[in-house]
Formats: sequence, structure tokens, C-alpha cells
Amino acid sequence: MARENGDGGTLFSVRMRAARGGPHEAGGRHVSGAERLLPEREVAAAVRSLVRRAQEHPLGAPDFIQVTVERVETEPVRIPGLPVTTVAASAPGEARRVAAVLLASAGVAPATAARAIEALAGGPGPGGGTMRGAMLMDAATGARLEPDPARGVRVTRVDVAPEARREVTRSLSRGRLIGTRVREALVLASKVAWAGALAELCWSDDPDYTTGYVASPAFGYVRLTHLKPRGTPLGGRVFFLPPGADPAPFVHRLEAVPVLLTGLGGVRPPVEASDFLKEIARDAAVSRA
Ligand code: AMP
Repeated sequence: MARENGDGGTLFSVRMRAARGGPHEAGGRHVSGAERLLPEREVAAAVRSLVRRAQEHPLGAPDFIQVTVERVETEPVRIPGLPVTTVAASAPGEARRVAAVLLASAGVAPATAARAIEALAGGPGPGGGTMRGAMLMDAATGARLEPDPARGVRVTRVDVAPEARREVTRSLSRGRLIGTRVREALVLASKVAWAGALAELCWSDDPDYTTGYVASPAFGYVRLTHLKPRGTPLGGRVFFLPPGADPAPFVHRLEAVPVLLTGLGGVRPPVEASDFLKEIARDAAVSRA
């Protein structure tokens, strides 16, 4: 039986994927994708807006767009969003140093973090291109665990709860984080952290968007400016699993369990990378003492 959400309507999963040069499974290049989890009355507008988003993507107009609308049959899990920090780095070298320190603090082996950064920079797909979904890596060994290395794992069935939207938008815009990009990435990262990842690393394949992030239940969602050089059409996501973890239940939670965010864990004013690194070192010294 379909369940009602707090807003009084049945929830629908709306998913969009777009590619150029044919569908993804026929070798087309991934252009755009998005996921929503909405009351029925908002589905038609969301479909229109996602199609428009695919058509206007900076990577160029797709020749394949697929939108799937599906009623969600199970009660969504309600989770809080991760707290947001923005770290201002001057260049990819500095931003990636901060990323590596944060990943290590979440339990990712330094060689695994280096491997993940290298994979995103070189194109994580089999031919050195982008993927539609995320890589999975064992945090200790760096082994790739995603069942389909061309597609990766896609996080779906997640959104901000309708009753929390206004507050989430207000908190983000108070922190000058306007637009859908940060909000959608934060929603995704919050589900990934809830699902059991030790940490996540992401930067976009959009050549003009150079801010990426590292996220973890340990330190929240940390945006890093200049995590990739401007003009690069490569990017992606890596989810780090605890050493030896079976990826199957993790993938099931990411793809099949509906999740709604009930709010935000706070938005901190931007901090310089050098100050942030000192702060992490101080915190580590305090927790060792
Ligand atoms: P974007 O932040 O939309 O530019 O996406 C950057 C990369 O993250 C994409 O190329 C995909 O590899 C990956 N990605 C985007 N959306 C998802 C998702 N819902 N689940 C898993 N990986 C995703």
C-alpha cells in the first residue's frame, strides 16, 4: 500500500537522466541527472523543470532524456541534514590537501584518498570519461566495489521534506548558498552518510563549477572552493565504505529506501583553508589528550 507523507499526499520518485550521443547504455556521454521525492501534485511541474534543466545544461544539449515517475510504496525514513561548512582554498592543491586531511580523519587510508582524487581527476569511467553514478571504494584498500563500473551507484528517492523546505532554503540563503546545486548535493550527501558511508568526495563534471566537497557523519558537509581546475569536464563522486563492508545493503539503502530531510544541521560562515587546517589539528590534539 502506498504511504502518505506528512504533507498529506502519496510520494513519487521523479528521476531524470540525460546523455549525448545516444542513451547511456548505448555509450552516450552522461550530461545531467537529478532525483526528487515529491507529493503527487508537484510531479508534473518537477518533470517540466527537470527536462528544461537537461536541455539547458552547460555540457551541451542532450539527445537522450529519460524521466521516470514512480509511486513510492514504503514509508520514508526522516533524517536530519548534515551541517554545512565552506572552506575557501586558493587552488586545487590546497583544496585537495584539506580534502585528504578530512578523509583521513573519517577513517579513509591516505593511499585510498589519493587514489580517489586521482580517479576523479583522470575520469572515473572505464574509458577515462565520467560516470552517471558514484564509485564505491573500500576505505582501507581503495578497491572499487561498485557492481557496474560504467554506471556507478546512483542515489535516488531522496529530497527535503515538504514541510522543511522553507527553513532549509532560508538557512542556505542566510549562508549565501543560493540555487539548487548546493541543496541537491547536501541532500544526496546526507543520505549517503545516513546509509553507512565513512565519507564521500565529490566534484562536478561541469567545467565552470570548481567547488567540490567532502562529507561525513564525522564532520558534516564541507564545501571546498577550487577543488578542481576551471575548464575541466571531468568529475564524479566516491563513497568510502568501512573496511571489508559488503556493498550490497549499502547500495540497497541508497537506491531503494526513500529518505526525507527534516532540516539542516546549521550553516557556518566561510573559513580560510589555512585556518581550517589549524582547527582540525587543534581538535585532533584535544581528542588525543
Ligand atoms: P554533479 O554534481 O551533478 O555535477 O555530478 C557530478 C557527478 O556525481 C556525476 O558525474 C556522477 O558521477 C555523480 N552523481 C551525480 N548525481 C548522482 C547521484 N544521484 N548518485 C550518485 N552519483 C551521482
